[in-house]
Amino acid sequence: MQDIPRRPPADVRRQLRREVGFGCPVVGCGNPYLEYHHFDPPWHEGPHHNPAGMLALCATHHAKADALTAEQCRELKAKPQSSTVRGRFEWMRREVVAIVGGNYYHETPHMVVFRGAPLIWFERDEEGYLLLSMRMLTTSHEGRAQLLANDWDIAGDPSDVESPPNGSYLRVRYPNGDDVQVQFRQWDSAESLALKHPRILVLGDEISYPLVTVEIAMVVGGTDVRFDARSSAIGGLTMTGSVMSRCGAGLVIG
Ligand SMILES: [Zn+2]
Repeated sequence: MQDIPRRPPADVRRQLRREVGFGCPVVGCGNPYLEYHHFDPPWHEGPHHNPAGMLALCATHHAKADALTAEQCRELKAKPQSSTVRGRFEWMRREVVAIVGGNYYHETPHMVVFRGAPLIWFERDEEGYLLLSMRMLTTSHEGRAQLLANDWDIAGDPSDVESPPNGSYLRVRYPNGDDVQVQFRQWDSAESLALKHPRILVLGDEISYPLVTVEIAMVVGGTDVRFDARSSAIGGLTMTGSVMSRCGAGLVIG
């Protein structure tokens, strides 16, 4: 028993997030950056990943969770918070390379434009920091997640929302296959960047370190529109490995 890993398996984490409605269930909290508390039995009494004895909580309330009885934890599991789940990416840099569907966008504020309107884009605030926005495309008539100037909120009825406490990653999935992921990372050197994204090195001295990248993936359920880790695919057209620098708009979809 002692050697079971502390991090719960993915299916247990998903179940615990869902039962609290993807926000910390403590009254008045709703924080979407969730951790996983073991209360029955507590981890130090017996390591386990039985979801019935576990509860998703934010980091602040997880740190205080020993104050809760098992009965109180069970009540919180049964009463998810009901307000809109929302959060914010605190990453603010003057230089960010966006990686969207396997293509690279540097100093290109409108990375993807769809039918005349930006779909994934940056704007600069008055201090010159880049703020990220994204609209989620869907064929459903329900609300979807949206990201506006680094603030995100979740509408519709997602099947899962992953938002770990480090605030660098968000993934929102819906039952119809709509899926969006955003991942910020920092690279301290060209050497470390080359291991994962060697294409960016063609920018040479135009970029400086530490460099921040944001990787964005989006799948539109029931369609052939797909921006995944490897490529951008729209209506049979696939594009990958392009590096666009100092373009007004990157990928323009008619
Ligand atoms: Zn909380």
